[in-house]
Amino acid sequence: MKTVLVTGASRGLGRSIIIKFAENNYNVVINYNNSKKEALELERYIKDNYQVEVLTIKADVGNEIEVKNMFNEIINKFNSIDIVVNNAGIAIDTIFEDKTVDNFHKILDTNLIGTFLVSKYASKYMLEKKYGNIINISSTNGIDTYYPYSMDYDASKAGIISLTKNLSKELSPYIRVNCICPGWIITDMSNSLDKEYMNREMTKINLKRFADPMEIANVVYFIASDDASYVNGSIISVDGGK
Ligand code: NAP
Repeated sequence: MKTVLVTGASRGLGRSIIIKFAENNYNVVINYNNSKKEALELERYIKDNYQVEVLTIKADVGNEIEVKNMFNEIINKFNSIDIVVNNAGIAIDTIFEDKTVDNFHKILDTNLIGTFLVSKYASKYMLEKKYGNIINISSTNGIDTYYPYSMDYDASKAGIISLTKNLSKELSPYIRVNCICPGWIITDMSNSLDKEYMNREMTKINLKRFADPMEIANVVYFIASDDASYVNGSIISVDGGK
């Protein structure tokens, strides 16, 4: 049985990705940082509904010691790690004048350095087995600019695209590394934004609606599966068409 780690899996997209893999008989590792209650509820839900092993680990993906300890725990329990989804992400949206170096660092640490650190420790174990799969969650904001208040977030997501291309070369031929760029997804992250702005955004999408998190999780699952065995170093938009 294969094992998948999803970072930032306590809520939103990460939660749906965990459920998708559990449905398909993968052992799952739920990583969270602050939302312990939600992470433990998800763990209970997986145990009650699927015949798979679950491990729940608190770790800030931007903190190297915590990431290292997380992988020690994973390897102790499962002996290997087959798939990693770098999903943990934050945004701190403000007008340009109110942006601070501190907040810029926080965003980069979680979104970009976190993706780097988790990939670094995961790839060590994957290379030993000569098998592995890394999927990085960027955003359409990493490709283009849509929201006027998120230049720091957008820069972190553009960095993830570059990191993906580099890692897919560096870790070849044993580890496939791909990047999914979702458009708007209905989660806490998008629900916190201005409603009028969000209504305008919806009109720009060809499908005229935002994504349910499971519609992104389905694509993540496909890219991780052996059915996508020749997809590598790809940047895949899943945005309803624009
Ligand atoms: P969300 O509902 O705000 O959830 C974010 C998740 O990331 C939470 O589980 C949170 O865990 C976790 N997280 C944050 N900082 C962390 C850290 N330092 N270490 C470990 N986990 C951390 O966001 P979402 O919408 O599901 O977003 C998931 C991913 O999709 C993000 O990378 C986001 O940028 C990307 N994305 C979202 C949208 C959208 O419209 N929602 C669009 C494009 C891309 P805790 O609560 O436990 O701290």
